[in-house]
Amino acid sequence: MSQAYLQCIACGARFASNSGALYACPTCGDLLDVVYDWDRLDPDALRHCFRQRRLSDDPKDVSGVWRYRELIPFYDDERQIVTYPEGNTPQLDAPRAARYAGLSRLTFKHQGYNPTGSFKDNGMATGVTQARVLGARVVACASTGNTSASMAAYAARAGLLGVVFIPEGQIAFGKLSQSLDYGALTLQIRGDFDKAMDLVRDVAPQVGMYVLNSVNPFRLEGQKAMAIELLDQRGWRVPDRIVVPGGNLGNSSSLGKGFKELYDLGFIDRLPHITIVQAEGAAPLYRTVTSHETSRLVTVYARTLATAIKIGRPVSWKKAKRAMDWTDGWVTTVTEQEIADAKAIIGRDGIACEPAAATTLAGLKRLIAEGTDTPINKDEDVVAILTGHVLKDPDYTVRYHLGDLYEDYVTETIVTHRSEKIQSNYPNRPVEVEAEPAAITAAIEAHLARVAAE
Ligand SMILES: *Cc1c(COP(=O)(O)O)cnc(C)c1O
Ligand SMILES: [Zn+2]
Repeated sequence: MSQAYLQCIACGARFASNSGALYACPTCGDLLDVVYDWDRLDPDALRHCFRQRRLSDDPKDVSGVWRYRELIPFYDDERQIVTYPEGNTPQLDAPRAARYAGLSRLTFKHQGYNPTGSFKDNGMATGVTQARVLGARVVACASTGNTSASMAAYAARAGLLGVVFIPEGQIAFGKLSQSLDYGALTLQIRGDFDKAMDLVRDVAPQVGMYVLNSVNPFRLEGQKAMAIELLDQRGWRVPDRIVVPGGNLGNSSSLGKGFKELYDLGFIDRLPHITIVQAEGAAPLYRTVTSHETSRLVTVYARTLATAIKIGRPVSWKKAKRAMDWTDGWVTTVTEQEIADAKAIIGRDGIACEPAAATTLAGLKRLIAEGTDTPINKDEDVVAILTGHVLKDPDYTVRYHLGDLYEDYVTETIVTHRSEKIQSNYPNRPVEVEAEPAAITAAIEAHLARVAAE
């Protein structure tokens, strides 16, 4: 089997991959990558093998992560593998959304169809597997919601105790409910995500908790499988562009690593441009790459209703920047209004997603509209990653359609002051009707007339 190491992205120092909980380079403090001394891999034979495994009922073959295990070979023994199973998420044509953005076509890969409703499951499959490799009993994470939902489920499946740190009042109810039902110890921290993250890192060594934030390089290995599965589903036709929301920047980092490894190993002969979209109020990567001094992160106090990307100090920013460099990528920002409208449009294609995921369509629309200042063209083969399920944050969706969405609105539990109203440009209000056939018929006819006029 190929040999795995942890390697510092800055000084290149290497460490054994199973030598304990390591989240940063002991020499210089920078981020670590899982790297491999690859066995000779035959891309054609493996592509065929991956296809064949779809006929198998073995959970490792059913998983959209472990089906590709030759490309994620850090465990010692297949019995250590943890799987729900995850992945196998659909690719969906979105003609309405394509028209909205000004593209001739657009495909969404919907990671919301994972077992806990977000792409975090891909990463927990490998992260919790590594917890097992290391013999950990307790796993922990700070979370804007989806990481905790996913970790709580995977910890329970693997028989480990999960401890989640969430910023009080700042996560969507759907996500909080998952963490509670899956039985994780759920600590509501009086502070924002960035504060919760600091606390996890402080406390973890004292309590012996294995940290499963995306600073953990093993999580990124599972998220990398998104790139592999996507290509497998497309018969290995490389898209021109991959669009992802940017929060803590683990997802963009892992997609970059995945495509780069596939390129280096001879599976593909070109790389898709990785295009990252951040909310304007939480855009530290955008601010960093557009600043004069790109070697230091510009941090921000994050503000957005898309809570999954409400992060001011993204831990993986250097890896995300590296992914942009490798793939000739791009980063842009979108407003709260643009996110809200894009989300409604994605819904109209019969797809729907949580707010953070809608940044992808909003970002594409903005890039096309900006025209010559950006390198995108309208006939590109674009795949946008929808990172989370619409039911994660139903409150946001219902408020949008009722015309009652405000920028400082957070969750049902905490009422902050309400300021900027988000316009509902594509509303679909529920219609109140008398319980009488005539009233109902009139309501349906009025609706049909409205649709015909659109
Ligand atoms: C975690 C998450 C993101 C942000 O991904 P990063 O890897 O932190 O950049 C975006 N959308 C959803 C739905 C998420 O759960
Ligand atoms: Zn180092």
